[in-house]
Amino acid sequence: MSANLAEQKNMSSPGASPLRYKRVLLKLSGEALMGGRDYGLDPAIVDRVAGEIKQVVDMGVEVCLVIGGGNIFRGVSGAAQGMDRSTADYMGMLATVINALAMQNALEKAEVPTRVLSAIPMSSVCEPYIRRKAQRHMEKGRVVIFAAGTGNPFFTTDSAAALRASEMQCDALLKATKVDGVYSADPAKVKDAKRYDRLSYLDVLSQDLQVMDTSAISLARQSKIPILVFSIFETGGFAQVMQGKGRFTIVE
Ligand code: UDP
Repeated sequence: MSANLAEQKNMSSPGASPLRYKRVLLKLSGEALMGGRDYGLDPAIVDRVAGEIKQVVDMGVEVCLVIGGGNIFRGVSGAAQGMDRSTADYMGMLATVINALAMQNALEKAEVPTRVLSAIPMSSVCEPYIRRKAQRHMEKGRVVIFAAGTGNPFFTTDSAAALRASEMQCDALLKATKVDGVYSADPAKVKDAKRYDRLSYLDVLSQDLQVMDTSAISLARQSKIPILVFSIFETGGFAQVMQGKGRFTIVE
């Protein structure tokens, strides 16, 4: 049904380019939602990102999200300050739930139906993660927000993104960043950093390029899910990438 819905919606807008992907997972880091702040969320940025997601949903793409928690708490920082690593990681996972609820709120304000599914059950707040439920929500056109990462300490939300994209049989994993693709070094710091249009999973692993962590890259490779790195701050950027347009780096 989903494919037909995508085709019908896309065909209904004259002049629209065909969709490259029917079902995608968007990975947003917590920092992407911070705006200019040092900590937490900037509601205006959350609304902006929700607007970008809405455009893609309106095109008929099935979208699910994994949101990080680095804007609130990272397990490694807690561990560095003497905390037990697992406890610190659970705190990090709870931070992702806060971000997921903020994004759900922004999407629903924009009239996009959503469901938050948490890998750590918290039934008063959201649904527990159940793969078949998640699939059903997606088939119904709801944006599914996967909260609490993988539910396990010692992992990251990058790994959660590759895991859920594999489970949901997504056609692509979109990694939203502040820049328009993968560079050999941070382009904000290194003036002549090289930008790549296309990379293999092995290039990323062997050159230690900062795309996603190595377990996420390995899992995406195993599941044959391309990773598209693009800027979420480019207006309409997400929608363009869905049509194979705009600027992004593809890892496949
Ligand atoms: N985390 C975890 N297991 C997971 C996902 C996340 O323990 O499966 C914890 C970990 O402490 C991590 C924090 O949650 O530092 C926030 O996630 P992440 O650092 O991936 O967020 P991002 O950098 O994307 O904002």
